[in-house]
Amino acid sequence: MLISWPTGMSSAPGSGAVTITRSTPTSRYAILSSSRTASESCYSWSQASQAGGDQREGDPLAFAANASASNPDAANPDAANASASNPDAGRPNSSHPYSGRTAVLATKHEKLSLIGPPIQRAIGLTVEAVAVDTDVLGTFTADIPRKGTPLETAVAKARLGIAATGIPLGMASEGSIGPDPLVPFLVADQEIVVLVDEEAGVSVWETCSSTGIVTATADLGPADDLEPLLSSADFPNHRLIVRPSTGPLRPIHKGIDTVEDLNAAIVECSGAAANGLARVETDLRAHACPSRQPIIGQCALQLASRLTACCPTCGTPGWGRVDVVVGIPCSWCGAKVPRPRAVIYGCLKCDHRETAPLVPPDAEADPGECPFCNP
Ligand SMILES: [Zn+2]
Ligand SMILES: [Zn+2]
Repeated sequence: MLISWPTGMSSAPGSGAVTITRSTPTSRYAILSSSRTASESCYSWSQASQAGGDQREGDPLAFAANASASNPDAANPDAANASASNPDAGRPNSSHPYSGRTAVLATKHEKLSLIGPPIQRAIGLTVEAVAVDTDVLGTFTADIPRKGTPLETAVAKARLGIAATGIPLGMASEGSIGPDPLVPFLVADQEIVVLVDEEAGVSVWETCSSTGIVTATADLGPADDLEPLLSSADFPNHRLIVRPSTGPLRPIHKGIDTVEDLNAAIVECSGAAANGLARVETDLRAHACPSRQPIIGQCALQLASRLTACCPTCGTPGWGRVDVVVGIPCSWCGAKVPRPRAVIYGCLKCDHRETAPLVPPDAEADPGECPFCNP
């Protein structure tokens, strides 16, 4: 299932190739200071905060911290190169708690090939698809509204798979598509991939965001020229949905991939609309929208990296960044400048936490960044 913001998808960012980059940070600040571009951006947000204090969630630092927490080699190009000549590289760790086990992936939309291989390679966990009706939790066309947050919905989907099979490890993914929070005229796709371990009572997830998704939308009548839309929508590589532009959501035709079917759907849906137009838009389901697929795959890679690390106290997989401590004193006035000071790594099951400073204890911030000295 996929949800779009109700007023989203109003612009087509073009049909350029999707480029997803996995950053290899040379330093954590390199990630913080990097700017996003329209076609190359992918970063993750963190796991749930379980620590208090003056901390915050949801910044581009998360991926750097996660990568270095759960996979020390991720931030070390030398180590990564060394492992290329290691015959064991790429083999899952057979001592991992999930090695040799099976997780069920709840999906109607052919996500197994995106999510299963990186998980199998990283930790030896076999992922099998289970066909449960995830649409009951909401659809992006809003004919069934999503009730929870994207994370809650992803966890609920994973639990549908667990309930259907009795296998206690469930996986799912969830996408949200709408205006980019930083550059609202771009369309952003934020994906979540989650693993729910019902026996341990933990959920481990990663998120990945990109503006590389191809979307298009237009209101068209039967006599209108389709060519501009078809080219900006990358049709038929990307499939389309047609429904009435105004009034009831039905009739609705999904997964359209031929011009003949598109024309027939426009005739039918424009006839059902008060304004005589059909709403034609990208079908955002994963199997119908190939520019979403590498974003889901990237997110699965990040989750695989996170699952590789286990808690040093209780052994639960998913050890990694759970929070960031923010606040460096201004060198002039001493007020806290909202810059990351430390990353907190933690376990999702027990209380074990470790703090990794990002700056020396006596670090001071430039007054130019201070909200009081440079308002
Ligand atoms: Zn633990
Ligand atoms: Zn100041």
